[in-house]
Amino acid sequence: MTEQVRIVTQNIDIPGIDTFSVYTQHGGFQALRKALAMEPAAVLETVKNSGLRGRGGAGFPTGMKWSFLAKNSSKPTYLCANGDESEPGTFKDRMIMEKIPHRLVEGVIISAYATGAKQAFIYIRGELAFAARQLERAIAETYAAGYAGKNIMGSGADIDVVLHRGAGAYICGEETALMESLEGKRGYPRLKPPFPAASGLYGGPTVINNCETLSTVPAIIENGAEWYAAYGTEKSKGTRIFCLSGHVNKPGNYELPMGATFRTLIEEFGGGVWKGHKLKAFVPGGSSTPMLSADKIDTPMDYESVAAAGSMLGAAGVIVIDDSTCIVDAVSRMEEFYRDESCGKCSPCREGTFWLAQLLERLAEGHGRAEDVQLLNDICNNMSGKCFCPLGDAAITPVTSAIKLFREEFEYHIIHHNCPLSEHNRSAAVSHT
Ligand code: SF4
Repeated sequence: MTEQVRIVTQNIDIPGIDTFSVYTQHGGFQALRKALAMEPAAVLETVKNSGLRGRGGAGFPTGMKWSFLAKNSSKPTYLCANGDESEPGTFKDRMIMEKIPHRLVEGVIISAYATGAKQAFIYIRGELAFAARQLERAIAETYAAGYAGKNIMGSGADIDVVLHRGAGAYICGEETALMESLEGKRGYPRLKPPFPAASGLYGGPTVINNCETLSTVPAIIENGAEWYAAYGTEKSKGTRIFCLSGHVNKPGNYELPMGATFRTLIEEFGGGVWKGHKLKAFVPGGSSTPMLSADKIDTPMDYESVAAAGSMLGAAGVIVIDDSTCIVDAVSRMEEFYRDESCGKCSPCREGTFWLAQLLERLAEGHGRAEDVQLLNDICNNMSGKCFCPLGDAAITPVTSAIKLFREEFEYHIIHHNCPLSEHNRSAAVSHT
């Protein structure tokens, strides 16, 4: 039996670990003490050498991202933790913020120190009320102990941390929309360039990292870059928290070394597909990543292997789809999400998501027309690469990948005005045998 490798989730099951006293009793804030005794550049170099890559979706090397920050700006530098986790299929940042909030706060302060930011923000999704309360308390306790604010631990470093609650918009997970929202404006994405590293929040150089990424930093500082880089694969170092959901017996968050296979996650940790069903397909990295067919279950879960299999590791939200699922219905529901969450700023996404959702609903209900599959593909083509921000491309991914893998299922709905998996068809099939 494979074991979890707990780096970010270390000690997560210890009662009271979400309190300052228990967190510090188990080694909490030792990494901050160690970091403050180092030069900021040395902290940055350690993170760079560890091979840590962003856990929010894009997988960009964290240390390199930090080193892009403009050095000679007249404006202050800012660090933002992106806690606007809303990607369907992901729930790891929520767990971190609820159960080990001090680890995130510690990671934020170390990372702010390394990047020269005196002001850090944690932007949290509006709906995560309990996580926000946990973080508010963790930040207050950290200030009270002298581990945040002025002259941290007597080191002379000044770093403030502010929690900011969003108002429940998926688009605010996009870094430029997040900054707009933080500034008190409507969460619309900004045109790039300028990139945040040059001109971001309030016009200052800004680095935005995912919560899991920042929560990994304390362990790297404490144990060293080589220790961390020993986990995972050659290009995908360390561990990841994989969010397993859908039709499995034991859904949940599992921290595993990069390179473990989907089979290990689904069968060993997830207890296999539920109710005796078979695996039909799975989404490897959250609903914005192309779904993969069941025969890809032995793909290693690292950036390169998942890309070679035709998808992306994304935010590591693995959604299991069993063989009783109508794929047209499943994609229709995903598309409703993108239609509702499109911010409406650009026409290809605003109009495209609306029409995709309409067409898919029509198909799923058995009212599809002969030209509908082609029409779906045409709309996706008109959106691909033509939207203002990544949400547009994310929105077409479930549709294009489902048509590629299960085209006959879409066509069946059109020809028979029914689903091949509906109860009606199943009982009809039984009565004919
Ligand atoms: Fe808004 Fe969609 Fe355009 Fe992004 S792609 S700016 S979410 S309308």
